[in-house]
Amino acid sequence: MYIQVIDSMEENCTFCKIIKGEKSADFLYQDESLVVFKDIRPHAPVHLLIVPREHIRSLNDLKEKDKDTIFKMIVKAKEMAKDHSIAESGYRLVFNVERGGGQVIFHLHLHLLGGW
Ligand code: AMP
Ligand code: ZN
Repeated sequence: MYIQVIDSMEENCTFCKIIKGEKSADFLYQDESLVVFKDIRPHAPVHLLIVPREHIRSLNDLKEKDKDTIFKMIVKAKEMAKDHSIAESGYRLVFNVERGGGQVIFHLHLHLLGGW
């Protein structure tokens, strides 16, 4: 329980640190609402993370006000797939939701996986 509270804090969030430049990452794209960087432990030849700048814990916490953000994330994932020449061959977009869904970083992110 204690660990869960710590995990959800923005100050202790790995992706907030990356977004604030306090931790390094291999960035491929940034704009006012989202960033894209390479997954540090790739599960596919192309494995990118599309991450909103705003700290939203998981898909469960998505609100009506976030609809533009989520739309932009999906459109950016589609564009990144094209840029990495995997649009035609195909790819997976994955949201892991909470611990049972495999989520380990509690800052909303979309996995783009492909290139097998
Ligand atoms: P999830 O299981 O959906 O929470 O995925 C979190 C992902 O973040 C995992 O695939 C990790 O390999 C990745 N990850 C963790 N720390 C970093 C980091 N510092 N830079 C890039 N990717 C990371
Ligand atoms: Zn965060």
